[in-house]
Amino acid sequence: MVEQILPNIYRIVVPLPRNPLKAVNSYVIKGENRNLIVDTAMNRPECLEPLQRGLAELAIDMQRTDLFITHMHADHAGLVADLATPESRCFIGHSDADIINEGGDWEEWAAYAVQNGFPAEFVEGAIRNHPGYKYATREPVDFIIVSEGQELVVGDYRFTCLYTPGHTDGHVCLYEKERRWLLSGDHLLRDITSNISVFEEEKNPLQDYLTSLDRVGELDVQLVLPGHRRVFQDYRERIQELQAHHQERAEEVYALLGQGDLDAYQIAAGMTWDMSYGWDAFPLQQRWFAVGEALAHLRYLEVQGRVGRRSVADRTVYTRH
Ligand SMILES: [Zn+2]
Repeated sequence: MVEQILPNIYRIVVPLPRNPLKAVNSYVIKGENRNLIVDTAMNRPECLEPLQRGLAELAIDMQRTDLFITHMHADHAGLVADLATPESRCFIGHSDADIINEGGDWEEWAAYAVQNGFPAEFVEGAIRNHPGYKYATREPVDFIIVSEGQELVVGDYRFTCLYTPGHTDGHVCLYEKERRWLLSGDHLLRDITSNISVFEEEKNPLQDYLTSLDRVGELDVQLVLPGHRRVFQDYRERIQELQAHHQERAEEVYALLGQGDLDAYQIAAGMTWDMSYGWDAFPLQQRWFAVGEALAHLRYLEVQGRVGRRSVADRTVYTRH
């Protein structure tokens, strides 16, 4: 489905079959000399075909088109190699480019998940079904790494690159200052909350995310064009909701530890999830995301000094301070 959102800005809603996200928004900004596509979709025919149909409908010549990828997740970056021509410039934030081109440290993340209670017999299945593993771009991409504050000019529009780490380390939003539009990727979504998770030591993505939300809250924005679902206006209200949501989640995790020491998998099983089924029916892949989310909230509490951890027979368990 192609729809015009603003003058020379179109949205192609690309379906993500059998995925709770349902669809991803690929934006096309038409310029006199060059066009810009912001985000693609997963590397699978069910995405490539509708995206190519949309681009054909808009008469987009890929030789005169560049790509901007808000972050490395497969639902945004998966088709960048398929769409780009040798004339296309492909922009992305630092660190996310490396993960795309190096293919991710799946073994390391799997070991970390097991150490945090993820059942060893399920970990391989969870990874094989992970969209980042299944639907990632298959070829390395010669990315141009954008810098903070860098401007990308497309037709009459001037977009500023704003680093907004949290959902991923190198997540970048595009801000059209004069028109007050924000292409927010997955940093700011209206109808769903973006997954904030961690599978490695020494990172505190939830704190990064909350700081990035504050940063976007300071901007003057008239319209948000998000990576999924509807465009929206009430962004400050949404930022407050998201901040409150994550504080509540952190308190929920803290409360669960009142029962005694638990690992991240046990905590994930005890948290409330916006799903129509209970934890026992959670697909492996959703369990993976849930554990990552539990870990991000644990890390946040740990840095605040409210939670500590220790090793018990190769497993990490968390405890209240
Ligand atoms: Zn996404």
